[in-house]
Amino acid sequence: SGPLLKVENLTKHYPLGTGFLNKTIPVVRAVEDVSFSVEAGETLCIVGESGCGKSTVARLLMRLVEPTAGRVLIDGTDIAGLKKNALRAWRRRMQMVFQDPYSSLNPRLTVEKIITEPVENFERLSRKQRKALAAELLRKVGMSPEMMNRLPSELSGGQRQRLGIARALALQPSLIIADEAVSALDVSVQAQILNLLLDLQQQMGIAFVFISHDLGVVEHIGHRVAVMYLGRIVELAPCEALFAKPVHPYTEALIAAAPIPDPTRVRLEAPVEGEVPSPINPPSGCAFHPRCPIAVERCRIDVPPLVPMADGRVVACHVRAPVTDLLEQSNVIAG
Ligand code: SF4
Ligand code: MG
Repeated sequence: SGPLLKVENLTKHYPLGTGFLNKTIPVVRAVEDVSFSVEAGETLCIVGESGCGKSTVARLLMRLVEPTAGRVLIDGTDIAGLKKNALRAWRRRMQMVFQDPYSSLNPRLTVEKIITEPVENFERLSRKQRKALAAELLRKVGMSPEMMNRLPSELSGGQRQRLGIARALALQPSLIIADEAVSALDVSVQAQILNLLLDLQQQMGIAFVFISHDLGVVEHIGHRVAVMYLGRIVELAPCEALFAKPVHPYTEALIAAAPIPDPTRVRLEAPVEGEVPSPINPPSGCAFHPRCPIAVERCRIDVPPLVPMADGRVVACHVRAPVTDLLEQSNVIAG
């Protein structure tokens, strides 16, 4: 069987306002030709500075926005084509945990109502069933069932994030998309929530797409890591290999700026010198070239393709992963 989630050439351009006759409308190139897959029970992290398109990828995966091009497949089925029952079934399998659980929780509902609501969208529960389900979900995320009568405003930030996770777990999803799910929390609470996610993954075999700007968090939780820069994946590698030996100059700079002996410590918003250029008019060729210490002439002209390396990673860089490697490999394969 194939991967649980497969993303093919996903692209999202947002037009900025409406144009006049014959006048080109400026476009935000939020996500550009992104492809990856996630196996059942695996954690794929997506990392990069803010504005690199990570959250747009999350919204595309959840079908909260439609792609300009490309496809999202769950168990080989294109989610864009899902109708009625299939769409409902898919909605059960994929859940999202947000950065700020408070803004995604209805402040007027009790904890019990909030965490059982996803199930009640699908089936009627008796009062007794609802209480039993709420107690079970609270226990799963390390909270006392006595909390079920509280309101979100009566909970701490860490408790609210546990609640957001309990709600996501209610439908026993195969995949959880977490967008900066621990970024708003204190470091000690952050570590607790990450360990909770790791435990839940072990127990329930849940796959995660874990989006974060924080390399410490990513190193702690990721199996594989996709590094994004201005809407594109520039390197995708097994987590250990990426941190041990980054290949793309952007990955290298990110990691060099964040030596991370303590996974709960580092939080960097813009560790690389210079600003992230605007996605409205991104630099030509390799979009990283204005900030790249090893750029060559060709970097301003051609977009580097993602080239598979011998250790299983892919890298988009004319210098570090030249296409000649790709040609040599295909010659080997061709015999
Ligand atoms: Fe730097 Fe060129 Fe590689 Fe881009 S393609 S990362 S500019 S060397
Ligand atoms: Mg974001």
